[in-house]
Amino acid sequence: MVEEHYLDKTDEYRNGELEDGPVLSAACKHVVADAVTTILRAVGEDPEREGLLSTPNRVARAYDELLIGYRVDPVALLNNALFDVTYSEMVIVTDIDFYSLCEHHMLPFIGKAHVAYIPDKKVVGLSKIPRIVEVFARRLQIQERMTRQIAELIDELLNPLGVAVVVDGLHMCMAMRGVKKANARMRTSALRGAFAANPKTRSEFMEHIGPVSRVML
Ligand SMILES: [Zn+2]
Repeated sequence: MVEEHYLDKTDEYRNGELEDGPVLSAACKHVVADAVTTILRAVGEDPEREGLLSTPNRVARAYDELLIGYRVDPVALLNNALFDVTYSEMVIVTDIDFYSLCEHHMLPFIGKAHVAYIPDKKVVGLSKIPRIVEVFARRLQIQERMTRQIAELIDELLNPLGVAVVVDGLHMCMAMRGVKKANARMRTSALRGAFAANPKTRSEFMEHIGPVSRVML
């Protein structure tokens, strides 16, 4: 994936000029950096003080990394990892860590994704499931849409007998501001095929993943 390659490379430029990245061109990073300088001034900070001197550039680079999901083609990511099988038992991957940004506040929301599907002739390499989650997490998101997108992609690519995605999220926009519900966790789910039609299949999966995780990291 583009990402590791990109990260290795930009480390060398950490303190220098802004460079083209996978999501943001150098010119776009300058726009972001200038906007951050404007915000710093607006909140009464001095962008010239030592601790803040490199902050606008750092923030611009951080967005390039945090939004990498826009530049990864999830279909291409999986193309070499689909295998034909006769297996048709439930495949479950639980506790996949994800880090995303809510599109309403541009603050992080983090948590765990749980994915299950029942293959019909095709399976995907297990290591690819966390990558699928990552592609949809590293964008400006809302948890409901991310949950649905993960399920849709698996549904389209594998044509399984069923797919289920449950996401448990902790939203900084709820924990740090507003209602300040630091312990509130949000659970969203997307169920297709056998998971939607058959309560027994659904409860097998739900029992496997257990209650909403209290520990997000
Ligand atoms: Zn939010």
